Amino acid sequence: MRIFMLLNLAFAFVFFVVVSISNAATLPETIRIAIVKNSTSVTIDGDGILATRENGEAVAFETPINVRPGKDCVVVNGINYRGLLFSAPSVVYVNSKPYRGVAEISLVDKGLLVVNELPLEDYLVGLINCEISSAWPIEAIKAQAVIARTYALNRKESRKNALYHLESSVIDQVYDGCLIEDSRARRGVMETAGEVLTYNGAIIQAFYHSSCGGKTESSENVWGASLPYLKGVDCQYCLTAKNSAWEQKLALKDIEDKLKNAGFSVSGVKNVRAGIRNNRGRLKSVLIDSARGETEVAGDQFRKAIGYGVIKSTNFTVKVSNGEASFSGLGNGHGVGLCQWGSKQRALDGFNYAEILSYYYPGTELKKLSEIR
Ligand SMILES: [Zn+2]
Repeated sequence: MRIFMLLNLAFAFVFFVVVSISNAATLPETIRIAIVKNSTSVTIDGDGILATRENGEAVAFETPINVRPGKDCVVVNGINYRGLLFSAPSVVYVNSKPYRGVAEISLVDKGLLVVNELPLEDYLVGLINCEISSAWPIEAIKAQAVIARTYALNRKESRKNALYHLESSVIDQVYDGCLIEDSRARRGVMETAGEVLTYNGAIIQAFYHSSCGGKTESSENVWGASLPYLKGVDCQYCLTAKNSAWEQKLALKDIEDKLKNAGFSVSGVKNVRAGIRNNRGRLKSVLIDSARGETEVAGDQFRKAIGYGVIKSTNFTVKVSNGEASFSGLGNGHGVGLCQWGSKQRALDGFNYAEILSYYYPGTELKKLSEIR
């Protein structure tokens, strides 16, 4: 009898070990996204919300739950917690938006930080309609799924000790929860499940942008770091898109105020001129004539100061008359890596996602994560 029990115990132990190992091998890859930062109030809601403290102990709350910042803690109903984690059988609503996975709230620099941790593939499904449209050809959706997965995993690796891996804005990749998921977005993600772009066996820095306006940019021109797969390629494909050319009119006073806010000493701006262009056709510098003389502002700094959404690219010309600067430009974004509108046109032209990706990231190889880990 005792031997039988021991055998049973041994069997149970082996079973436990085998199950644990196989679970570890099949656990989905997860990603951590900052969805709310520096907030003074966060509301959590949803069906069957489970709240836990940082030590894993469950806490009972009535929904909706209002979380506020305290002194070195977060506060709910007047009670202090070091941090709180919220999960639900389906989705957790954070400030009325639904998210898959869990939402973690902590205090960072006097404000609330909410991190959404969820399976990487679910994150990608939510992201598709933030970055492009799932109405685009399926091969363009698949290309977007691969680069978003590649970009996210590269960031995860470089920020593995940080509170989160990615911002939910254009700083990294736009992500707004699961409300705008749909079946085509999921299909694009599933048909490329686990696929990433690699160079010499390592996951690449898969930068991408909205439209390049004729030529993609080299990473060296934007960030100073030369990468063999981000040298820039020709891309006339995005020029068919209605938004590839842009115009903008701004009062010189407006430009002056924005440049001053960004720390440039340019009182009495009289003229704005294009400076020299780089080898990809974009402006290395913009010249500002003011009462203080000529000030040279780096092209990207100029865009940043005036607003990335106002000056959509550094590929522009500018004319000044009657105190107003008229900008005419091509492309939208930094121009490095895949051109999303170009990719759409390539897909309409009959190219598949692997061909689209190898065009914009020359020398890279498409691999399954399981092949490189
Ligand atoms: Zn393009």
